[in-house]
Amino acid sequence: MGKVIIIGAGGVGTVVAHKVAQNPEVFTEIMLASRTKSKCDAIAADVKKRTGVTLQTARVDADSVAELVALFYEFRPELVINVALPYQDLTIMDACLKAGVNYLDTANYEPKEEAKFEYSWQWAYKEKFEKAGLTAILGCGFDPGVTSVFTAYAAKHHFDEMHYLDIVDCNAGDHGKAFATNFNPEINIREVTQKGKYWEDGKWVETAPHEIHKPLTYPEIGPKESYVIYHEELESLVKNFPTLKRARFWMTFGQEYLTHLRVIQNIGMARIDEVEYNGVKIVPIQFLKAVLPDPGDLGENYTGWTSIGCRIRGIKDGKEKTYYVYNNCSHQAAYQETGAQGVSYTTGVPAMIGAMMFFKGEWRKAGVYNVEEFNPDPFMEMLNKHGLPWVEVHDADLEL
Ligand code: NDP
Repeated sequence: MGKVIIIGAGGVGTVVAHKVAQNPEVFTEIMLASRTKSKCDAIAADVKKRTGVTLQTARVDADSVAELVALFYEFRPELVINVALPYQDLTIMDACLKAGVNYLDTANYEPKEEAKFEYSWQWAYKEKFEKAGLTAILGCGFDPGVTSVFTAYAAKHHFDEMHYLDIVDCNAGDHGKAFATNFNPEINIREVTQKGKYWEDGKWVETAPHEIHKPLTYPEIGPKESYVIYHEELESLVKNFPTLKRARFWMTFGQEYLTHLRVIQNIGMARIDEVEYNGVKIVPIQFLKAVLPDPGDLGENYTGWTSIGCRIRGIKDGKEKTYYVYNNCSHQAAYQETGAQGVSYTTGVPAMIGAMMFFKGEWRKAGVYNVEEFNPDPFMEMLNKHGLPWVEVHDADLEL
């Protein structure tokens, strides 16, 4: 059906490359491009071994619109799957507009010099994409991504009005390291050390970092201490589902992880500004990334499960009802299939499915859209087929 270019050769790029190659009837030609070409070549060799499919590879600096445009003109893709870092979202969107390429990503734009993410920068491209007749699909990983589609599916099939949404994200895996992050450490630490924030009665309520917490019980896993943090899909979900009176995002953290995080912050290693060291300027959090375990290498010894879902309360046929929809994903199974751990897997599979939705014409309209604005049904069906099956529980105690 179409030519696709994947940008970014980290943990998520590894999974996207494998999953795209597993579906040659949809993705007829595939290129994997990133800053370091040798990483693309290593992934391509692995994909070839597992699937027999050949990927083209290229080096590109995705901070440079000119380099991206040149590559797009050379390869002529119909769609770019952006799984580089959030810093590159706008340059890639600019290049897409210049070269006439459609766009999909898994994380919203974040400026390098400020630990702040919001959709405003990317939503501002809506008119330009509309005029160019191009589709941009934002936030198509697991959270944002599947959690947003879960919410749209619940609204479509199970509620007349949704009132309370709690997205619950548990990683009950064990990678055997004292401290490691499950995706890019810089992005991850910036995300989890910021203030908490949730939506209530038409406004945002801010909390101290990790101030609100309680144990929540996850299916097949049991109770885990869970913390309210701000997560980007809340911004678009409260806009697209205005009946929500409250929307929160919960993530589990172990005590060890939080202790490490506190120390990292207290000693200044989470700083994102430049400091001078021996005549060289370094950014502490970037230096920290260089000495922490590479999230892409955690897979081999990673055991246990992730469990991510939406717990929703609202009204159906005049009566109160609750609904819980979730996926549990095994780190080991993800590693066996793609060589990457569960967090990369749960992000990369939905990115591939979103791209598939685009090529099949299900999610194709000119403009810039968050995933919950599309029809959730064909996406939900594909989750079951491509490695992220989901489970529904009706009228259970949501604990929230
Ligand atoms: P990694 O750090 O493992 O990989 C990022 C890749 O992007 C690396 O290959 C890196 O190149 C490449 N890259 C960075 N800068 C540039 C550049 N200027 N030009 C070209 N390539 C570049 O990250 P992950 O794979 O863990 O995460 C990828 C994305 O997925 C991130 O945006 C992350 O926020 C998002 N994500 C989304 C989730 C969701 O559920 N929605 C969950 C987890 C992650 P190099 O190898 O040279 O460093």
